[in-house]
Amino acid sequence: ERERLENVRGKESVTQDGQKVLIYANAGNPADLPRVVASDAEGIGLFRSEFLYLENDDYPTEEQQFEAYKKALTAMEGKRVVIRTMDIGADKKADYFDLDPEENPAMGLRAIRICLTRPELFKTQLRALCRASVYGRLAIMFPMIISVEEVRKAKALLAEVMAQLKKEGIPCAEQIETGIMIETPAAALVSDALAEEVDFFSLGTNDLTQYTLAIDRQQTKLDDFFDPHHLAVLRLIEMTAKNAHKAGIWVGICGELGADLSLTEAFLRMGIDELSVSATSVLPLRDKVRSLNLKA
Ligand code: PEP
Ligand code: MG
Repeated sequence: ERERLENVRGKESVTQDGQKVLIYANAGNPADLPRVVASDAEGIGLFRSEFLYLENDDYPTEEQQFEAYKKALTAMEGKRVVIRTMDIGADKKADYFDLDPEENPAMGLRAIRICLTRPELFKTQLRALCRASVYGRLAIMFPMIISVEEVRKAKALLAEVMAQLKKEGIPCAEQIETGIMIETPAAALVSDALAEEVDFFSLGTNDLTQYTLAIDRQQTKLDDFFDPHHLAVLRLIEMTAKNAHKAGIWVGICGELGADLSLTEAFLRMGIDELSVSATSVLPLRDKVRSLNLKA
């Protein structure tokens, strides 16, 4: 088994009938980078930036963030690295944020909602990202989006930061690929409109399942009900993929479901362009992709 997996190392992720998919890895921390590099992933599809905020007892400085992003981009040697802007909320506690306690933190002030409420905090992260962008192939991704307005506001802040860096003579990539997570039913349902605003989508199936089924993903006693294979979730994924392609942008999956080998064929039939999975799932997934023949 192990030998079979080693056999697909360095090979393309392509079905027998020639359909390609990118297999990327997720990372939650710079400490994951050696594992990601060793996994033979073709890029990083989700680099969660929360560690910066959760490991500190004060806001991470621009410099601290810059160093971490630079490390990820450098380690991947020009392969695409999708870094997600902070997804802090009342559940991922960082005391110095001074967030009010909430009864429903999953539905509370979190992620992009905090960023748009506290633009100075957000701009520090965007500045660090832009400065790191010259060290590889960076893509920036915004989490928990529900509307076109949010995307436009986030992109306007990014443009502001890029213009400011230019004025200061600090190097930054001319263009930075910008995308959003599709992890709320609202985003999936208006993905036709959202696709006009961004370069890519990445489906966060963990939260998409939580919000679609109205089941708290952290309540283990509800595990029997938490069904990411629910037809409602699969329909939202398919709808998102269709709307992405209609607008000519790429669409990936970065939630746990991306590594579910029983769905790989269905995802490829939907035309999913990229699957971002844990480092240990990269080779098994590539092996699965290479065994499929969608025309048969
Ligand atoms: C998701 O929601 O599916 C996702 C990938 O993000 P996180 O698990 O960090 O919420
Ligand atoms: Mg999520």
